[in-house]
Amino acid sequence: MKKIVLSGMRPTGPLHIGHLFGALKNWKKLQNEGYNCFYMIADYHALSTDYSETENIKNYVEEIAIDFISSGLDPEKSTIFIQSLVPEHTELHLIFSMFVPIPWLERNPVYKEQVEELKDRDLHTYGFLGYPVLQAADILIYKANFVPIGQDQLPHLELTREIARRFNYLYGNTFPEPEALLTETPKIPGIDGRKMSKSYNNAIYLKDSPDEIKKKVSIMFTDPKRIYKKDPGHPETCPVFAYHKIFNEGRVGEIEKDCKNAIIGCTDCKKELGEKVVLYLSDIKKKREQIERNKKELWEILKVGSEKARRIAEKTIIEVKEKIGLIYGK
Ligand code: SF4
Repeated sequence: MKKIVLSGMRPTGPLHIGHLFGALKNWKKLQNEGYNCFYMIADYHALSTDYSETENIKNYVEEIAIDFISSGLDPEKSTIFIQSLVPEHTELHLIFSMFVPIPWLERNPVYKEQVEELKDRDLHTYGFLGYPVLQAADILIYKANFVPIGQDQLPHLELTREIARRFNYLYGNTFPEPEALLTETPKIPGIDGRKMSKSYNNAIYLKDSPDEIKKKVSIMFTDPKRIYKKDPGHPETCPVFAYHKIFNEGRVGEIEKDCKNAIIGCTDCKKELGEKVVLYLSDIKKKREQIERNKKELWEILKVGSEKARRIAEKTIIEVKEKIGLIYGK
């Protein structure tokens, strides 16, 4: 039996290079290493923060599906699906909600951070407090063995494991306790040096045209101590250099030396980088254009993936209801 992996992304906007290096490349690797991978477009999770702005959700679902496939997720190998097309996620979420103590949710550090950070919307909602319970349902409905995550998401996974344990204790052994597949990913700052994020308007998107990419790279923040070309640079503090390490590996040693010795200027350094980023993303771009020409096929992939996911989710829900005693007419 292949081990099951579950992960997902929220359709709140197009994906950027932070998503590519932080998740998608790893997801592709896992699908090619023989895991049974389920990759979800988590539209209900998008509602947890964006419940008052739903007009773009369908477009974002489509965009993310294109980003997934053009970045190398293969619908023949991985199950790519839309969360709301598998209503068993919400059924299991509701069942879990009955026994998850509220303090388990209130102590979630991400909850507190996000309520503080996203001040432009009211996140004091029942759904937002409970989103980790929905996450647990997303994972456990497929009895996933592994969840690919970063160190910062470990508390969420621990909550899923606690929920699995509590269910198993109350109703009998049903769910495995999923484990983290911790992945080291390169940190990619936004073009202004802060964390890359749609809300900071500092991201390079996978869908950006070559001209847009070059323009964004040309305005990237650099070493603040290097005012003139004759000033020696400090590449270790420069976001442009962080990108060279990823997109221009063959030249990174020389760039470092030339920056420190004030041989290369920032304009030329960024020009070279812009071309490398465009080149790196060119295959994704080609695949994206191909998918965009046949959206019907894209939606068919999502339909087939969601139906496949649902067949498995239904089995789990039947088992869960039997364990609880919700069996009627038999
Ligand atoms: S030369 Fe390049 S690495 Fe050095 S400070 Fe300028 S942009 Fe950054």
